[in-house]
Amino acid sequence: MSEMDIRRRFPAGAVIFHEGAPGDCAYVIEAGEVEISIRRDGRTVVLARRGVGEIVGEMAIVDAAARSATVTATSECRLLILTRDQLHSRLRRLDPVLRMVFGVVLERFRDSLKSMRGEAAPAAATPVAPPPETAAAEGLGEAFQSAIDRIELEQELRRGVAAGEIEFHHQPLVSAGSRRIVGYEALARWRHQDFGLVSPGRFIPVAEETGLVRDISKLAVASAAIVAARLRQRDVGDANLFVSANVTAEDLCDPGFFEHVSGALRAAALPPSGLVLEITESTLIENAEQALAMLQRYRDLGVGVSIDDFGAGYSNFSYLARYPVQTIKIDKSVVDQLDGGDAPSRDRGDRGAKLVKAMVTMAHALDLKIVAEGVETPTQADVLRDLGCDVLQGYYFGRPELLAEACASAPCAHGLPAPELV
Ligand code: C2E
Ligand code: CA
Ligand code: CA
Repeated sequence: MSEMDIRRRFPAGAVIFHEGAPGDCAYVIEAGEVEISIRRDGRTVVLARRGVGEIVGEMAIVDAAARSATVTATSECRLLILTRDQLHSRLRRLDPVLRMVFGVVLERFRDSLKSMRGEAAPAAATPVAPPPETAAAEGLGEAFQSAIDRIELEQELRRGVAAGEIEFHHQPLVSAGSRRIVGYEALARWRHQDFGLVSPGRFIPVAEETGLVRDISKLAVASAAIVAARLRQRDVGDANLFVSANVTAEDLCDPGFFEHVSGALRAAALPPSGLVLEITESTLIENAEQALAMLQRYRDLGVGVSIDDFGAGYSNFSYLARYPVQTIKIDKSVVDQLDGGDAPSRDRGDRGAKLVKAMVTMAHALDLKIVAEGVETPTQADVLRDLGCDVLQGYYFGRPELLAEACASAPCAHGLPAPELV
């Protein structure tokens, strides 16, 4: 791409573009100043001046309309070109609600501009969806629909959380050697009145963006404490069972959440060893410094912390040595690599086994327990045990299920009270 395609220079007094001319790019002013004007009743009306860091001509790339004003350089200018394609590829990546707001604000601006020029009176009520004539408007029309879906989902989730529609299903974790159940992971489900059971993959991202995930984490912890206490009471052989709850790094770093956790243990009369908090590796690294201090508090309290999805992305071994956590969970994507069979996948299986072995060695050197998750076959289970994994979890041993002991977290057939959101 040549410099001419990226930048343009104009001497003082030059017209950069004329009102009414077709436009296909906007300009970011890198040097100099410009004046924006329109012709009205045979006179030139100056609307605004723009300087370094500002943009001119943006309307043309947003809605493919002709230039709505004339822009003249008032001093020597250097302008960076921003094309319609560049804008649109960014718009497509934007949150749908922001795209809708952008579309509406733009439409109102366009109306004001028209009425100011006496072209047409603005509509009595500005249409919420932009008109579909132009490609850009069509894109914004789609954005409008996904924004509506998104807002609806957010509101529904807020209502659902408040109405006690979040429940937890429990998946067993077994000892790799004896295959006895040592604990359960609580996995959130949304029992929606119309949609049925909604998976966390659908609602947790929305919950994270809206902050509702805090309420879900609190429910998860309160429910896990109650369920663990009940499981431990059920028979004496289960006296060491734990239940793990998924929480976010923000939760973990918040002292208020720590109070909630200790309150939940007290309310359920559960010794702290009966509760484990699972937190994903990547989010923990992002919040490294605050996390360290809080992790120490959890360790002192006696609540377990497990690093989830280990090996799923970029794994940082060095911080594990610093962090007082008790367990790491090898991600399913690593376990999947263990499958042998034909020659190419045997190679892959060997590499997967080496990876697991390295993780086990490192974890044990740091006194950490290692859980492998997503175990689906007896071969995987045996290989993982032989490689030194302590605990296994996956469909081979059991899918997440609604335990009778878990019916405290949502209104269900057992009719037990829902835990309070503190
Ligand atoms: P995760 O914490 O990594 O949970 C493990 C997921 O893998 C669960 O999916 C589980 O059902 C699934 N799984 C377990 N064993 C197997 C297996 O052998 N094969 C396969 N194919 N899948 C297996 P689920 O329940 O859909 O949860 C998905 C994710 O949603 C969780 O991943 C977690 O990140 C998030 N999530 C679930 N509940 C909560 C919650 O209460 N709070 C938060 N913040 N996130 C949650
Ligand atoms: Ca988890
Ligand atoms: Ca996981």
